[in-house]
Amino acid sequence: MNTVTNYIKRLFLWELFQGLSVTGRYFFAKKITLQYPEEKTPLSPRFRGHHALRRYPNGEERCIACKLCEAVCPALAITIEAAPREDGTRRTTRYEIDMVKCIFCGFCEESCPTDSIVETNLFEYHGQQRGDLLITKDKLLALGDRLETQIAADRASDAKYR
Ligand code: SF4
Ligand code: SF4
Repeated sequence: MNTVTNYIKRLFLWELFQGLSVTGRYFFAKKITLQYPEEKTPLSPRFRGHHALRRYPNGEERCIACKLCEAVCPALAITIEAAPREDGTRRTTRYEIDMVKCIFCGFCEESCPTDSIVETNLFEYHGQQRGDLLITKDKLLALGDRLETQIAADRASDAKYR
């Protein structure tokens, strides 16, 4: 009986039409492919992209050079040097992240007591030569200044779910 059924299926190209029915179903279904980079998927407020250092509204750096982020980083990607300032406060004199080593685990921002080091939703960056992805304090602060509105909004919306 099976042989007869298989013969009839082959004769009438049953499996071919089965395959075409799947093609037809997806041909008319709503498309899920996006035309990146013109179209982008929504990002979670917890997205872990390029790092940035934040400031307080008065322009003061949030970072107090406690080095918790450096200690917790499993990839040893963060390098910090610090010194006291004239007013007695302690600040970093060097803060670098080697993005080649970073595994975007988020431990640095979770450990930070002043909400200073954060991971932004910026993921479109690249380096063309050795050293381009060694991100210095100046660059991290500049990125923090540029993206502060987005960073603050992401953290406010994420706080709702904590
Ligand atoms: S995200 Fe993780 S690996 Fe990257 S710098 Fe922070 S702690 Fe280190
Ligand atoms: S970024 Fe945060 S955790 Fe890292 S040294 Fe500065 S204050 Fe400490």
